[in-house]
Amino acid sequence: MGKESSSSGRYDLVINDALIVNATGRLRGSIGVRDGAISALSREGLRGELEIDARGRPVIPGVVDAHCHFRIAQGRGPDAVVSSDDYVIGPRSAAFGGVTTFIDFAIQQRGSAARDEVESRIEEASAGSIIDFGFHCSLTDPRPAVLDEIEPLMERGIASFKFFMAYAKWGFYVDLGFLHAAMARIAARGGVVAVHAEDDEILEFWRDQKAREAPSDMLNHSLSRPELAEEVAIRSAIALAKETGATLYVVHLSTSRGLRAIIEGRNGGAAVIAETCPHYLAFSHEVYRQPDGRYYTMTPPLRADGNRQALWDGVRDGRIDVVGSDHNSFTRAQKDRATGFLDVPPGLAGTETLLPYMLSDGVAAGLITLERVVELLCTNPARIYRLTRKGSIELGKDADLVLLDLDEERAVTDASVVDRGTCNAPVGRGRFVPRYGTRARTEPLATVRP
Ligand SMILES: [Zn+2]
Repeated sequence: MGKESSSSGRYDLVINDALIVNATGRLRGSIGVRDGAISALSREGLRGELEIDARGRPVIPGVVDAHCHFRIAQGRGPDAVVSSDDYVIGPRSAAFGGVTTFIDFAIQQRGSAARDEVESRIEEASAGSIIDFGFHCSLTDPRPAVLDEIEPLMERGIASFKFFMAYAKWGFYVDLGFLHAAMARIAARGGVVAVHAEDDEILEFWRDQKAREAPSDMLNHSLSRPELAEEVAIRSAIALAKETGATLYVVHLSTSRGLRAIIEGRNGGAAVIAETCPHYLAFSHEVYRQPDGRYYTMTPPLRADGNRQALWDGVRDGRIDVVGSDHNSFTRAQKDRATGFLDVPPGLAGTETLLPYMLSDGVAAGLITLERVVELLCTNPARIYRLTRKGSIELGKDADLVLLDLDEERAVTDASVVDRGTCNAPVGRGRFVPRYGTRARTEPLATVRP
């Protein structure tokens, strides 16, 4: 604080009398922005072309949503369903929720170069997005030749690779041998290895079993994907990470036993980062018994009660590093076409409600501090994925800033959000996560185009 850039003159934008909140603490002062970067932090008021009086309200760094899917096809062939939010609507929806950077996934199509998907996704996001973005690359074609793509992709700027330990039927799954070899190559270059950790053999057995028993029972979406499948996959991935020295990033952690496996892995010397999502914190699988249970379907599924609480403990005490949205949006009509747990497209909207949810159920509920929210949603994902200009309010960083109004309550409804995701109640009576955003409103102030 008290620091100011040497160049004189007015700023493009100033935010005066703000409570400036970083992961490390908070200070009252003003922020001066020039050319899209934070160029002054001062205890005194500043002058600029555009002046905003925050009146003591918090300003936090823009959220980096480390887990987003826009325009993704779920399923295969004629059964595939394309998600509802593309690279225009998705990033707009993110910005309305205080997200100023999203990281999406370029998922290789088997038989094609991963690089092709990376380039076409970058092109599509560049054309559509109003906010900054990055891409993880998913390698889905477990042939040795595909490993040779890793180094060029990292030179292109891909810092992280994601592998599916499930979804053989959708053509995403890679075996442990390929994963081992890929991890070694990625670790050698200091990249991050992300895994969708569900053991496919366990899933396939129970999926067939539950399909025979009761295909229309939506609770079987959860029971056909047992918690054990997550634990087994995490333990396998940790063994490979220890062997190769790779940094392992477990996406969308959903179970208490998975968290326990991660802690044991860390204690055994593995570098393991844990990410969870708001829906695993908000709900148990009891919602699948509701008539609108199909609106709550995503993978991994919601879990038995007890898991939520364990994940909240991890979010609170730092054993969980990141909360990402896993935004993967389907409209009500798309979900309604399902006849049972087997054919409902899995995924929820969420990037727009990620921060409001953490402010509502986390901060307003007294479970975590605003600093911790900044750490989980901004600072940690920026550090892990090497977005060096993001994640904190400091001189020289991008002026990705979110002004919060913690007093305003607002129901989240179909009409109140930008995304086209499913709601779990009639319009006007609350959305798929009724508590999302009920106590907090966010206003994105400044974003920088890629
Ligand atoms: Zn995902």
